[in-house]
This record gives sequence, C-alpha cells and structure tokens, in this order.
Amino acid sequence: MNIAFIGLGNMGAPMATNLVKAGHRVCVFDLVESAIRALEAEGATRAESAAAATRGVEVVISMLPAGAHVRGLYLGRDGAPGLLDALLGTPLIIDASTISPEDARIVGAAAAERGLTYLDAPVSGGVGGAKAGTLTFIVGGSEEGYAQAQPVLEAMGKNIFHAGETGAGQVAKICNNMLLGILMSGTAEALALGVKNGLDPAVLSEIMKQSSGGNWALNVYNPWPGVMEGSAASRDYQGGFLTDLMAKDLGLAWELALGSKSTVPMGSQARNLFALHSAQGNGGLDFSSIQALYRAGEDK
Ligand code: NAD
Repeated sequence: MNIAFIGLGNMGAPMATNLVKAGHRVCVFDLVESAIRALEAEGATRAESAAAATRGVEVVISMLPAGAHVRGLYLGRDGAPGLLDALLGTPLIIDASTISPEDARIVGAAAAERGLTYLDAPVSGGVGGAKAGTLTFIVGGSEEGYAQAQPVLEAMGKNIFHAGETGAGQVAKICNNMLLGILMSGTAEALALGVKNGLDPAVLSEIMKQSSGGNWALNVYNPWPGVMEGSAASRDYQGGFLTDLMAKDLGLAWELALGSKSTVPMGSQARNLFALHSAQGNGGLDFSSIQALYRAGEDK
C-alpha cells in the first residue's frame, strides 16, 4: 500500500520503519529534519509537508504528541488550512496519538463531513513494542474502517482491538495509561522502600515479579537503574515514554473523570506525582524516572 506517515518521534519512527519492512511504500513527514532523514535511511521517501506526504496514498497515519497537534494537523491552525482540506481522494485516516476522546470525535466528525473515514487508534506497548512490531492498537471508529485498517496495523502490532465508535479507542487507552501511571509510581515506591531497608533492587524486583505484586513495570520496564538491561532506567532515562506525555495522559484521565462524574483517587495521586516530577525538570526524561522522586535525599 501507499502510506503517508506523519510524526516520526520515539514511537512513530519505529512504527513507520516496520511498515517499510512489511513492503509498504511509506512517505514520511516530521517537523524535525533529522527524523525524516533517519526514516529515509530505512527506505521511506521524504515529503516537505504533511500535505505533500499524502499525495496518492490510500492510508494516512499520524503519531503526534497531543490533541492540539492532531487538531492543528487535520483542521488547521493560525488561519492555515488543515490536512483534511488538502487531501486528494479519500484515504483512510488513522491517528495513533493518545489524545482526548473529545478531540478524536471533533476530528472524526470533520473528516466524516468531507466523506473521509477517521479512526482513533492509540497504542500500548512502548518504544520496545513499536520496534518489535508487537504494539497493541485500540481502535475507535466504524466497523468498515476497522476492517480496512487491519492489514496495515498488523505490520506494526500484535493485538488489535475494536473498542467501539470514534473516541472509544482513546477512552480505553486513557483507562490503561491511568493504570500504568499508578503501577509505575507504585512499583517505584515499593522498590525505594525495599532498598532503604537493605534489599538489593534486583533481588526485590525478582521476588515481586514472581509474587502477587507482579506487573508490567516490573516485567518489562523496571524503573531502578541497572536492574534490567535495555530499560530506560539503565540509560539515564533517555528516550522511551516521556514524563510529560504520562502527565498529559493522566490529565486526560482526570478530564474524563470530571466529565463522567467518576472517582479516580489513585489516578489523581499519580497525576500529581508525575506533574510534580515534571515541574522539577524531568518532563523530558522517560516516565520511569519517577523513581528519582522516591530517591531524593537518599545519600544524606
Ligand atoms: P515524541 O514527542 O517522541 O514524537 C512526536 C513527533 O511528532 C516529534 O518527532 C515531533 O517533531 C512530531 N510532530 C509534532 N507536531 C508535528 C506536526 N504538526 N507535523 C509533523 N510532525 C509533528 O512522542 P512519542 O513518544 O512518539 O509519542 C507519540 C504519541 O504516542 C503521544 O500521543 C504519546 O502519548 C503516545 N504514546 C507514546 C508511547 C511511548 O512509549 N513513547 C507509548 C504509547 C503511546
């Protein structure tokens, strides 16, 4: 297939690379030149704008930081027209960014007005999953759109779910990431407690992994430096899933809770922890660096 891929960051770059590897013709665009060049080296073709990337494609995929970027891309900003008005033909639109369900519905409705099919398809699995092509896609949108997207998503992911209508993918993703934020901060807290009381973090991690506290953070994303080879913690928390993006997702959970009069005390606590961690200058580090919040003053 001919595919346009817009947004080549920590997640978008390996996802687009897997599309190339699967034999698709992928035309890419990002605001950062070096990101485009890296994908060219993988066999993608470059475009000088998002609109140019979509010429003659059957599918448009976007992987951007937040809702404002997605609205800006598709609907336009500062008087400039959006991509929806620049598209030729009727390519399927798949936005894999994590944004609010409200934003997804706004862009989805604008797409539908122009006869276009839009799917929200946020992902889970982290940069490791993006590289390995084992992401989980959580799709919101029509049955027809979901069926059309499947062969493309299968080149980047292993588990593909249809959560419901437009926006439903984002609701499910936000619930998942609220739980992840709670689990990561809880894991960091437990590790810090054990280490302060004389345990080796690797030994404690192994014990908890095989016990009732076992969870995804312990299994594949251990926040303590040096415990897990290849983890963000073991490379000074560079790359991965940024603290600011986790704080954004926990904010989305909070908004969702307000709108539906739901109670999310654990999610609120996690949101405050990640917001505090970000305010202390760690927004650009991987979210597992929340471990540092529990280690402050350790050597005193
Ligand atoms: P990132 O910040 O690494 O990458 C975003 C990319 O989008 C950047 O390269 C940026 O230059 C580009 N960009 C921004 N606006 C653009 C525009 N208008 N046109 C073209 N390019 C533009 O972010 P990421 O970690 O790749 O995450 C992307 C999305 O995926 C976020 O919504 C995030 O919440 C979600 N997500 C991330 C992870 C993870 O582990 N990193 C996991 C699951 C979901």
